[in-house]
Amino acid sequence: MADASSNGAIAVHAIQTGAVHMKGRQLRPRREAQAARVLDVLLDREWTPSMPISCYLIEHPEGAIVVDTGESSHINDPGYRPWWHPVMRLSARFDVAPDDEAGPQLRARGHDPAAVGKVVMTHMHGDHTGGLSHFPAAQVLVSEREAAAAFARTARVNGYLNEHYPQWLSPTRLTFDGEPWETFDASIALTADGRVRALPTPGHTAGHLSVVVDQGEHLVLLAGDATYAEQQLLDGAIDGVAAEPGAHRDSTARIRELCARRRVVVVPTHDPRGAKRLANVEFTTPQAP
Ligand SMILES: [Zn+2]
Repeated sequence: MADASSNGAIAVHAIQTGAVHMKGRQLRPRREAQAARVLDVLLDREWTPSMPISCYLIEHPEGAIVVDTGESSHINDPGYRPWWHPVMRLSARFDVAPDDEAGPQLRARGHDPAAVGKVVMTHMHGDHTGGLSHFPAAQVLVSEREAAAAFARTARVNGYLNEHYPQWLSPTRLTFDGEPWETFDASIALTADGRVRALPTPGHTAGHLSVVVDQGEHLVLLAGDATYAEQQLLDGAIDGVAAEPGAHRDSTARIRELCARRRVVVVPTHDPRGAKRLANVEFTTPQAP
């Protein structure tokens, strides 16, 4: 039998750190220009059903890798979301209990979060960075473009609550100059065997990345917010707050093309069926064009 270091399965676990209701128009925008789309989200009175806020644990022979860290249970504390930022304050309803956070959930699975050596961030929005404080020993990997946006003078206006990042955070910046991989022009191997890779999937944010795990017979694509849910991906729809709609469409086209070539389980952060599809190895199958 093959072991995990050659072509055996690498365990990938979805960890749900609470839930969020978004505005309907965040999933189904009507406009192209970002300002008009965001205003439409703000004015929308319809809420989505409850959607998970997920992060992931990859049990690789080189050590545990955590992808994103979920939301903080302080999200509903007065002042946590800036009063002057209507989209952040009014366009999402969160439900996160202290035990929902990434740290307690890892401990419940027998992993010490303080011993995790590697955390890969798809992007730096608060519902992905909210659990960073549980991983003080980790090298935190962020794309160069994302780190620049998250620490820019304009970061908070653009939805990065960087005042809540841990004081110790000094991310390792990834530059996508590695070899092309499948439908992507560049990739970065995150493990020596190359079976865990970062892929550039900009659009939702300028420096968004996804993480692909090669399971031999199939791939698992941890898509972050490159798309909110499998159906959005298959529809080729952008999201209501995406920073770069053209890049968003290009990234999801590359993911669909990958799904047409290979057997892929695409797992977006907020997909209500993401964890189930991951556990059941349900492939994402685009319609033929
Ligand atoms: Zn996001």
